[in-house]
Amino acid sequence: MNAIIIGAGIGGIATSIRLAKNGYKVDVYEQNSYPGGKLSLIEQDGFRFDAGPSLFTLPELVDDLVKLQNENSNIEFPYKKLDESCRYFWEDGKRITAYTEPKKFGAEVEKVFKVPAKTITDYIKNAEFKYEKSARIFLEKSLHKTSTFLSKEILPALLNIYKFGLFESMNQVNQRKLKDPKLVQLFNRFATYNGSDPYQAPGILTSIANLELNKGTFYPKNGMYQITDTLVKVAESLGVKFHYNAAVENIKVEDKEAKGVVANGEFISADLVVSNMDIYPTYKKLLSKEKQPEPILNQERSSSALIFYWGIAREFEELGLHNIFFSEDYRKEFDHIFKKKAVAPDPTVYVNITSKHSPEDAPEGMENWFVMVNVPANNGQDWDKLIPEIKESVLQKLERMLKTDISRHIKTESILEPRTIESKTSSYQGALYGSSSNNRYAAFLRHPNFHQKIKNLYFSGGSVHPGGGIPLCLLSAKIIDDLSPSAK
Ligand code: FAD
Repeated sequence: MNAIIIGAGIGGIATSIRLAKNGYKVDVYEQNSYPGGKLSLIEQDGFRFDAGPSLFTLPELVDDLVKLQNENSNIEFPYKKLDESCRYFWEDGKRITAYTEPKKFGAEVEKVFKVPAKTITDYIKNAEFKYEKSARIFLEKSLHKTSTFLSKEILPALLNIYKFGLFESMNQVNQRKLKDPKLVQLFNRFATYNGSDPYQAPGILTSIANLELNKGTFYPKNGMYQITDTLVKVAESLGVKFHYNAAVENIKVEDKEAKGVVANGEFISADLVVSNMDIYPTYKKLLSKEKQPEPILNQERSSSALIFYWGIAREFEELGLHNIFFSEDYRKEFDHIFKKKAVAPDPTVYVNITSKHSPEDAPEGMENWFVMVNVPANNGQDWDKLIPEIKESVLQKLERMLKTDISRHIKTESILEPRTIESKTSSYQGALYGSSSNNRYAAFLRHPNFHQKIKNLYFSGGSVHPGGGIPLCLLSAKIIDDLSPSAK
């Protein structure tokens, strides 16, 4: 039996590995000349940048795939757990380093904020409880199969549902538990893990803190692109064929069954078709003759991003791998993104510097800065006017907070923004994580990993269940593998 996968994003590559292991002959058709989609890389003037994701959690999901490699291969995926998760900076000069060990972070919060360490360790314990009780149901299984609701994990989840914070926002939970406005801001930040608004997203998302501050954050030996690189090698070891510069134009459906795809004008038949393309253009372009699930397609999109990749001709001791420079008014910032579809005058700035761990990513004495601001998904805003304005406010903010002239040190620059995120990966409106999680039904309103009416048609990646971000994309592949027929 053969399977065709549309798109070599991380969800598509992971699906190709699982289906190949399951006995399918797999071909991946990718419109770009390179794999990885959002998880790709940029090389420029002696600097290397990870183009998209920078924060790596749940590495065991990658390990699981690496273990599936052909028995005669010797593909390794070295990475390390980080002691430090992120450095946070505020305009009034307050700074704190967050650690991946709850007691250590609690002690640091006590020192910097005069808030008892136990407040933090209790918070993280609660985040862990919510995560453990809900993940198996909401993330690791299809929400669209009766079997999920008959499984043994459902009972503990249902018995604890009132403890999940579904009826409060993340911000309400954080205010109640943490009180200190800066700590509330720090923990509200976890809403950005899936491009959502902490003032609207349900309190259950406070469980995300369990990943970074308890299970830990990790760093692949050669940076994030190593995930793509390694998994492509694993897939190839299993016989998966990647076809680059091969955009799929159509999914052929006959008698309510997927029969194959048309790529570069040619029909290729398949027993199974998986789209890793964003679900919106999958329907609008590849399945335009089929009934469109408009309520799902019209869900609010997650936020997008504006990223400046800067080669910086100096080193900054006070910065680590992940650094966040907070805005003074977080609520205003999210109101701008989700209600006004605009960017607040003083946005929070995230700076990621992989040369802190991979010195070869920048020339000696220099650093590779990935500088990101959360922005709304593209609704036709005047980005050509906005980008220079945002750049100016980012520079002013960093110069104020680091007390040094940054622009003078920028040796090289590249920019990614909502329009180019869409043109490079087909993500509708350039959203980073598919639809937002700004309401408590969001988990149920994502498209299932299979088509309910068309046989042999499946969907993987960040715009479908269980959602965006590398770990969830990898889980979408596992769910497809569980649901699809074995080819053995
Ligand atoms: P995508 O990466 O969306 O790729 C889809 C692929 O399909 C692309 O290669 C595209 O070219 C191809 N394709 C589309 N249409 C066709 C077609 N018709 N024919 C052939 N090929 C087609 N996640 C994290 O876990 N941690 C982070 O720190 C993080 N930060 C992020 C920062 C940025 C700036 C961005 C952009 C994303 C970030 N994410 C992060 C999100 C994460 O990158 C995504 O959720 C994930 O990579 C999406 O993978 P995917 O499988 O959905 O495929």
